[in-house]
Amino acid sequence: MTLSLSLADYQAAAARIAPYINETPCLLSSVLSEQCGHPVWLKHEQEQETGAFKLRGATNAVLQLPDGAAGVTTASTGNHGRALAHAAVVAGLPAVICLSELVPYNKRHAIELLGAEARVIGDSQDAAMREAERLVAEEGFALIPPFDDMQVIAGQGTLGLEMAAAVPGPVTVLVPLSGGGLLAGVAGAMKALNPETRIIGVTMERGAAMAASLEAGKPVDVREVPTLADSLGGGIGMENRHSFAMVQALVDEVILVSEAEIAAGIRFLYLAEGATVEGAAAVGVAAMLGGRFVPDGPVILPLTGGNIDPEYHKRIINGETPDLEDGPCPIYAS
Ligand SMILES: *Cc1c(COP(=O)(O)O)cnc(C)c1O
Repeated sequence: MTLSLSLADYQAAAARIAPYINETPCLLSSVLSEQCGHPVWLKHEQEQETGAFKLRGATNAVLQLPDGAAGVTTASTGNHGRALAHAAVVAGLPAVICLSELVPYNKRHAIELLGAEARVIGDSQDAAMREAERLVAEEGFALIPPFDDMQVIAGQGTLGLEMAAAVPGPVTVLVPLSGGGLLAGVAGAMKALNPETRIIGVTMERGAAMAASLEAGKPVDVREVPTLADSLGGGIGMENRHSFAMVQALVDEVILVSEAEIAAGIRFLYLAEGATVEGAAAVGVAAMLGGRFVPDGPVILPLTGGNIDPEYHKRIINGETPDLEDGPCPIYAS
């Protein structure tokens, strides 16, 4: 089961979702290239519709639902929830994104603006998840997972196909790593095209469940702590079926970065590259600027998302590293 996606599966996913997603620019960073002496490319996926690559996997999964599904649901309020809401509406399917009463109004509003229903239920993420499960059991909805799903992984892999087409030849890709759907898909697609592709997972020092699981050799839980890379938080699921084994098989190295390095990455991308990115998308640049990754050839950094709270962004580009000990970054935490 582990490596059951072939190049043809990724190519089929790309053809399937092409009408619904943007092919985003992959541009040379002259500043980073100059600094390290090798070409460094930025894949500007923060410009994707809904502001993150998650639209690729969600769209691929929604388009393959069996006839008769009443709609789609999830309890994610982050980039996956937004992506699923958008994908379902575009495909003409009802979407119900289940949220707890604690989720701030702006997130609810963002989902409603896409034309999906934001159903507010209970006072915890668990209560929201129970409502999503009830929709599946009683009303014929399909639950689309954020990363541990072969169709989602195939969709995320289309980002890898685009990067390989933009930068031919052997390359190292620094992939932001959380549940591993993105890394599994990008690595699967790019290594199928060129086995010499090196895939490095980058994630935050604070509460990285996949890094801890790779170390332990099995899925483990870690305490979730606030981080600037809020889209990389959360567990990988103790019952993980696909993404853990695929990451284990395909990743060449994992690098951890600090909060100050992530802030420096966000700042650099804005000031030097004109890119507004969220913390999760800045970890690759953070690893380079922090000297944790030293290129020995061409590099691609996928900028995976741009959904950062404007107030935080302003503070960070003005030189601050917001102290998140007091509470989470009020962004689009998944
Ligand atoms: C979800 C997400 C990731 C990580 O993807 P996984 O498939 O969970 O590893 C990285 N960056 C952004 C912006 C995301 O939303």
